[in-house]
Amino acid sequence: MSEHELADRIAALMPRAKADLTELVSIPSVADPRQYPPEECRKAAQWVADAFTEAGLHDVHLAETPDGSAAVLGHRPPPPGAPTVLLYCHYDVQPPLDDAAWTSPPFTLTERDGRWYGRGTADCKGNIVMHLTALRALGDDLPVGLRFVAESSEEQGAGGMEAYVERHREQFLADALLICDTGNAAVGQPTVTTSLRGLASLVVTVSTLRGEAHSGMFGGPAPDALAALVPDGRPRPGRLHPAVQRLRRRVPAGRDHPDGRGGTAVPHPRPPTRASTPPRSSTWPMSRPSS
Ligand SMILES: [Zn+2]
Repeated sequence: MSEHELADRIAALMPRAKADLTELVSIPSVADPRQYPPEECRKAAQWVADAFTEAGLHDVHLAETPDGSAAVLGHRPPPPGAPTVLLYCHYDVQPPLDDAAWTSPPFTLTERDGRWYGRGTADCKGNIVMHLTALRALGDDLPVGLRFVAESSEEQGAGGMEAYVERHREQFLADALLICDTGNAAVGQPTVTTSLRGLASLVVTVSTLRGEAHSGMFGGPAPDALAALVPDGRPRPGRLHPAVQRLRRRVPAGRDHPDGRGGTAVPHPRPPTRASTPPRSSTWPMSRPSS
């Protein structure tokens, strides 16, 4: 199929795309049962499953994820020797919150100045319809295999899909992922987003001394929690951060200040270890060395 032919087919499919998007946006698929009945999400999931079945995907089904939501999965086998591309999208949407703050009803697709408004119209139901319209335009003229996933609780961050993928890796094997949960740089300007940044929320606790140490006396060599958190190397899983390791090396065993107060460092005895346990006849600590 030539580029022109493909463009013509897509142009002819646009009214259908708008009708599809209008239907899909009208379903308030907020994946939070405290705000909307879960049946709305099921309705959206079934809409997506039916549409992609009709567009030629095989075995399109709802897959329960550990957070109780239902993703939509399907596939299409590749031609011999061809790669497989995974198409990603999500059908749940952010809650609209204050309906009165909207210029037009959030779950009614409304056109203003040539743009379509409504909750999920862009993120990410518009992209679901994009996948759908692309499949319809290409028909059987597909040079690759497909896997399809419409996530069910992406906006809630409940982790349902993450947990599902870990348990069913084989259902997501692909040579490339097409994640269309993105936007374009400007109206009318096709855009390919080549990298995305995620986020991780975590609490890091660094234990150093048991109390404060006088900066003038101990500042340099004393372990410092803030310095330990400043990365100076590539952390390795299961290992202390290199900065923490370095701090450990800088504090000779037995030289840690017992109470952390300022003054002359007093080496305190270490608990006995297997290698250094004194003979039974002697008491431990044998004596506290003076500095
Ligand atoms: Zn999104």
